[in-house]
Amino acid sequence: MHEFKYAYPAYFYLVALAALLYFFYNLRKLWAASAGKPDPAVKINIGEFFINGLTFGIFQRRVFSRRFAYPALMHFLLAWGFFILFFATTVDFFVARGWFADFLPQLDTPWFASLNDTAGLMLIAGLLLALYRRMFSKPEKLPHDLFSGRGNFLGDSGIILFLLLLALGGFFAEAARLAVYQPPAVEYSWIGYPLSALFPVSSWRQFELILWWFHALSALLFIALLPLTKMFHILAALVNVALTNRQLRGRLRPMFVSRLMEDPEADLENISLGVSRSREFRRKQLLDAIACTECARCTTVCPANTTGKPLSPMKIMTDIREHLYAGQFGNGEQKDLVGATITETELWSCTTCGACMAECPVLNEHVPAIVDMRRYLVLSEGKPPEQASESLEKTLSTGNPWGLPKSNRLKWATDAGLDIPVFSEKKKADVLYWVGCAGAYDPLNQQVAVSMIRIFEAAGVDYAVLGTEESCTGDSARRLGEEYLFETMALQNIDTLNRYEFEVIVTPCPHCFNTLKNEYPAFDGNYRVMHHSEFISELISAGKLSPDKTLSGRVTYHDACYLGRHNQIYSAPRNVLGKLLKTEGGFTELPRHHADSFCCGAGGGNMWHDIEAGSRMNVNRIEEVMHSGADTVATACSFCLIMLDDALKIKGQEDTLKVLYIAQVVADSLPASRK
Ligand code: SF4
Ligand code: SF4
Repeated sequence: MHEFKYAYPAYFYLVALAALLYFFYNLRKLWAASAGKPDPAVKINIGEFFINGLTFGIFQRRVFSRRFAYPALMHFLLAWGFFILFFATTVDFFVARGWFADFLPQLDTPWFASLNDTAGLMLIAGLLLALYRRMFSKPEKLPHDLFSGRGNFLGDSGIILFLLLLALGGFFAEAARLAVYQPPAVEYSWIGYPLSALFPVSSWRQFELILWWFHALSALLFIALLPLTKMFHILAALVNVALTNRQLRGRLRPMFVSRLMEDPEADLENISLGVSRSREFRRKQLLDAIACTECARCTTVCPANTTGKPLSPMKIMTDIREHLYAGQFGNGEQKDLVGATITETELWSCTTCGACMAECPVLNEHVPAIVDMRRYLVLSEGKPPEQASESLEKTLSTGNPWGLPKSNRLKWATDAGLDIPVFSEKKKADVLYWVGCAGAYDPLNQQVAVSMIRIFEAAGVDYAVLGTEESCTGDSARRLGEEYLFETMALQNIDTLNRYEFEVIVTPCPHCFNTLKNEYPAFDGNYRVMHHSEFISELISAGKLSPDKTLSGRVTYHDACYLGRHNQIYSAPRNVLGKLLKTEGGFTELPRHHADSFCCGAGGGNMWHDIEAGSRMNVNRIEEVMHSGADTVATACSFCLIMLDDALKIKGQEDTLKVLYIAQVVADSLPASRK
């Protein structure tokens, strides 16, 4: 074995062993997720496990966001400084006694020495940025208890100060070593070496051992305590992102309530549906809560929180975690999760817009967790929001939340003098035009339905509608937690759809689109589904539709949550608008656009009830449109059309600003309609 100049004493390794044992003992916090229910639908894919782990864990792709530039830079410096120093410390741990010395670099290897000093500087810079943000310019949404709180030992700022001490101690220990031993290539330690020159060698010699032990013990203390501090997220987030199935991310889990109701073995009297306690969540959902870093990005972008509703998606995550730890480890009092820790109003305030999930750096899924708790309120407690329960009853009795007669489902067409083909007579067509309840019953959206017919006719599309056989897809019912009603609607519609022959379903509404495309497959309803903006864009590209350039003035576009964030359709509506603009450069983006778009307030069943607290989301959005200088705002969502039009009236802007639907703009630009 080699003789090493800086060989660590044997009892250092004993203390290290104790620290590691304590570290592993506290990893039980991660294991607490196993208290949840297994999810048979979630299969671990080894390829995705490593890709996610590398992309979102090690390289932290989601941390780097333009909206959060300061914390992104801060986190980059902190994380990479930490990773490199962690690697260096591990290497040093072995090499100091000559173990693996032929394969590993040593402290005075030039590249290793300069890399370690660079990493130390990065870590200190990141920590100072973090400290400034925590103590002097703290964003309102971040947790405000500095040195304690939410089960994190040392709190948010305490752990930063501890790490600062650790990093500075490292530089002083290094400077002492360089001054005393004067190793070769000393100048490569480009921070430690100039630091060593600040004091005489005799002084360094006096303190060298103390500085070394101070740094060594504080490093071991950090390792031992890591799972108890906020830094636990380094491990928890890595495991969480690696285990995320990104294809299923944000999807609502089917409950198959109808099957349960028909199961003769089920104890229907005592059954609890939905989630009221942390242990009733799926394991991966509990892991989400454990992995939350409390960065508050979700809460910062949440439209409910922004408009003063009592909802913070970060709090939802930390409440689930606290409830879990209280149950598993006896940490604190275990109050009821739903109703006491998380209030009903918090749960009903969510519009399921997905902004929180789009921004979360550790890929947490807030919406399914919120809907699971709503399911408990509705299915087990029978407590939907009062106003919304009316729309649920109407959906059940008439097949639409407006509660209008099913026989009137095609009245919009007859009123417009249109004689449109229906599947009950035609049986077969290339396109099944899914009108949606809004298109069938809401006056504004009826104009959209008429526009779509004009487009189909102009492009010579072979289409038909279901007419009175069409029912609500169940989108709102599902998001309001009424899974049984959703399943009833879904099974009924699937039965109808399966009776006819068609190639593609085209629908103007992103909520119908999302449900038909992403949610019906779980019930064996597998169809090719297109949003009308995609279909029109294809018709124009194929030369089957040649609208004139009729859009003048400044035009902007409002991204609907269920088209954009939930389905990644951003360019099709913009492409269509681009073809209609009279002047190049006539299009202007809103400040919050694409995945950063701001919800109109109607999603998640909130179309059917109001949360009294705070201001209105649709007004917040229309004010943004007004400030953008646009005189037309186009949208591609039935609910957004109603909400933005409503906001326009509240602001008294009907004469200065127009809200238009993509289909309407296209239909009005067709040469035939301009004669
Ligand atoms: S889905 Fe939207 S409204 Fe609901 S918690 Fe997330 S950001 Fe807030
Ligand atoms: S849920 Fe995600 S975005 Fe929200 S605070 Fe936790 S880590 Fe940050």
